Amino acid sequence: MLLNIEFINPRLHFLHVSRGNSAAGANAVKGSEPRVPELEIPRPMGAGVARASPPQQGGRPQARGGAYGGGEAPSNRAGLGRRVWKIRVNKVNREILKVMYEDVIHKRNGSIPKGLLYYADEWREMYENTKRMREEAGKRTLPKTPPLLLLVKFVMPDGSVRGKKDAACIIDLRRGELRIPSYGIAQKLRRSLVRALVEENSLEPRPDFVLMVTRRGFLRLIASRAPPRKDASALQLICMDENLGHGLYATLIRFGGEKVRVTRGPTFKPPNAALLRRIAAQLQSAADTGTTVELRALIERAYEELGEGREVEGWELYATPDRLRELKRRIGARERRLNEEWRNGVVSWVRSVVRANADARAVVLVDEVIAETAQSGMLRRGSERLRNLCLYEGAEYVPLRASGRYCPRCNAMGVEVARRIFKCPRCGLEWHRDRMATFTLALNYAKLTENEALRKALLEWLNEHPRALLS
Ligand SMILES: [Zn+2]
Repeated sequence: MLLNIEFINPRLHFLHVSRGNSAAGANAVKGSEPRVPELEIPRPMGAGVARASPPQQGGRPQARGGAYGGGEAPSNRAGLGRRVWKIRVNKVNREILKVMYEDVIHKRNGSIPKGLLYYADEWREMYENTKRMREEAGKRTLPKTPPLLLLVKFVMPDGSVRGKKDAACIIDLRRGELRIPSYGIAQKLRRSLVRALVEENSLEPRPDFVLMVTRRGFLRLIASRAPPRKDASALQLICMDENLGHGLYATLIRFGGEKVRVTRGPTFKPPNAALLRRIAAQLQSAADTGTTVELRALIERAYEELGEGREVEGWELYATPDRLRELKRRIGARERRLNEEWRNGVVSWVRSVVRANADARAVVLVDEVIAETAQSGMLRRGSERLRNLCLYEGAEYVPLRASGRYCPRCNAMGVEVARRIFKCPRCGLEWHRDRMATFTLALNYAKLTENEALRKALLEWLNEHPRALLS
């Protein structure tokens, strides 16, 4: 029996907060790309942590059937998809959680309820692995202790209980609180999180949930899931092409066997990160050189971008190097937060499309080149998240190559007749380059999978809607 604890790897931040909707952010720890040193422990050696001893009693979480069942360690990266929610705790509870953490890892309180020790062996094994790896790497100091893992059970709004009976942590969705009764912890949950967890519990198959308690008393709830790919005949393609600077274009193509239905998705305009980067660089240079040219305007601009458009009074006093560096740091944090929110927006849109098309086989198509070479943007930093999302939702992730410069009807290279608008010199078809790239992804997918019916349907649709790809 295995426990997949690979998620406690330093790359976790890729999938850190999954927001069912934007309001859920309120439940997250502030700052969107938090440093979580307590999570930065290496992944256990090998693909997973095998259990040293057989389970003592029934009621261990069930291994997923099918490809991930059996005694083999799944290749964790390719195995389970995960969602992570941070759960904000108040100061009092956080202190209690720290005590609980210490009690459990040292087993120093004789009366620790069994439920809290559920994953004790895995924890020990993970810690020993980490220590060994550090020693092998020539480091002398001990690693930070990994988070505790606790089983979770849910009380649903109708009063029914889901999860293992002896779970140490109860998430009561009727009362909107998280409880760890053995330590007297009761933490109110945001309503947006409660709603998200009700939805998550109603998924089929239902995810496995585990609560992570860090040594500093932070909580994260982790859901893992790997539904089998659907055997549906309908195909739902989610085609995404990113153009740095112009944003991410998305086109939905549904194919039921005869005709395709093509819907334009939202265009995710990138946040204006370049401006923030420029302000940050100017602040840095002002701090380093003491330049005062336009400094007041710069500081005011920085505050404006931080949403604090206040008058900078006594700004000469304010403009010390330390204060300028602090302002620069805040601008940098703002840039990262905007980028992260942008990625969250894309991911949650894709998730909602997959869930709304549950009767179809969902395939996420992205331009491979951009995914691998882009310096920033969704498809580079976010492709990991999209892969994870696909595992979790039972969708397929297919990176392909696509260009928006060629006519799909005659393969001729288009001529740019207006900004990003191309025209085929042979058949006269006109299109918007970024939109065409998404359409070409679908065509290339049809070729890749030798789905001739899909390819024909796409070209037919184009003949019937020759101006549809113009924006
Ligand atoms: Zn043409």
